[in-house]
Amino acid sequence: MPHDGIMVAAGSRPGNPLARILVELGAVPAWLDGLEGATLGEALIQVREVVDRTESLFAGGLRRFDTSGEYAADGAIGIVPWLRWKCRLSAGAAAERVGIARQLDHLPKTEEAFARGELSYQHVAVMARTAEHVGAAAVRKAEASLLKAAETMDPGQFVGVAKNFEHRVDAAGALAETNRAYERRYLHIGDPVDGLVRLDGLLDAEGGATVRTALNPFMKPGKADDRTAGQRLADALLELCKQRPASKNGDGAGPRPQLIIRATVETLAGIPGAPAGELEGGSTVPAETVQRLACDSAISRIIAKGELDFEITRASRSIPPATRRALAARDHHCVAQSCDRQPSWCDGHHRQFWTNGGPTALPNLVLLCRPHHRMVHEGGFQLRPAADGRWILIRPVAAHARSA
Ligand SMILES: [Zn+2]
Ligand SMILES: [Zn+2]
Repeated sequence: MPHDGIMVAAGSRPGNPLARILVELGAVPAWLDGLEGATLGEALIQVREVVDRTESLFAGGLRRFDTSGEYAADGAIGIVPWLRWKCRLSAGAAAERVGIARQLDHLPKTEEAFARGELSYQHVAVMARTAEHVGAAAVRKAEASLLKAAETMDPGQFVGVAKNFEHRVDAAGALAETNRAYERRYLHIGDPVDGLVRLDGLLDAEGGATVRTALNPFMKPGKADDRTAGQRLADALLELCKQRPASKNGDGAGPRPQLIIRATVETLAGIPGAPAGELEGGSTVPAETVQRLACDSAISRIIAKGELDFEITRASRSIPPATRRALAARDHHCVAQSCDRQPSWCDGHHRQFWTNGGPTALPNLVLLCRPHHRMVHEGGFQLRPAADGRWILIRPVAAHARSA
């Protein structure tokens, strides 16, 4: 139970308005349940106001409690550990509230606006952080104009104004902060766990903007695209990595970064009981993935595992640039119905797989974008010609049905 000695003592004091507020809060859910539409919207705005004004009260009390050092009576070594322990805040959330409490002492206009409910907690957090960076005295000189900006902007936009202000009063400090941020950059690509690789990292603002700008062109949802925004972003990253450098005419005929896969002939042929394919770094992929990657070997190089090196080398083929250009000229885009992804985003799919004797020649090839190519190989969808010259993807009837 979070109710320790102090809280019980405060709560049992006669005339405690917080106790009355808590009783009233108990009646709110039933009241909210009865609201709809615009009335519900208004109520939600009021809920935020209550939260913000409560944060303002918290900041005022926290400042006195911090100054008094009373937290030590509970055995806490500092105000932040006390807040984590007694108020169940994360270290970051606790430190932010302590920063606000301390800075508000020097920012009277901000404190008043916060208490009146004119300023949200997040806006106040931006003000306090700015004061920490450039000193409360500098912020106090511009306090009125900053508060005016805060009135009309959401906290994210307001951060931009605050950063601009910091740069004006302390360009060297702003540069140092940018450099500190840059030093924190990293990207981590995890090892596969359950078939998934976790990416995480931090980029400085410029790096983040560069990646976003580069990914944007690949983010557009296609017709009847049911991917989530997160899935589209992940696909966009892969599209970007698979782009052929200097592909002038966009037909995808140029060289691309190659993925090296070790596989046996049995795996390529999809013979039951064949081992999985191995990617560089040791992770494994199913036979269907090996077949898809081998289908347009411009994106991959299959290296034989075992004694059948010669056979794979003999069988392995890439789509010659001239054939690839003819394929792009004939199909224009992914041939799946309702798909219009351009040739540079497509693989050349062998309708009859080459280990089964399908030739790498125009009549046996169709352009499929990466998601549709994947549906055919790993998803087991069948390709059936449609009346309009496009192809329909037929969902597999049985889970083990596979097309090569
Ligand atoms: Zn294919
Ligand atoms: Zn497609």
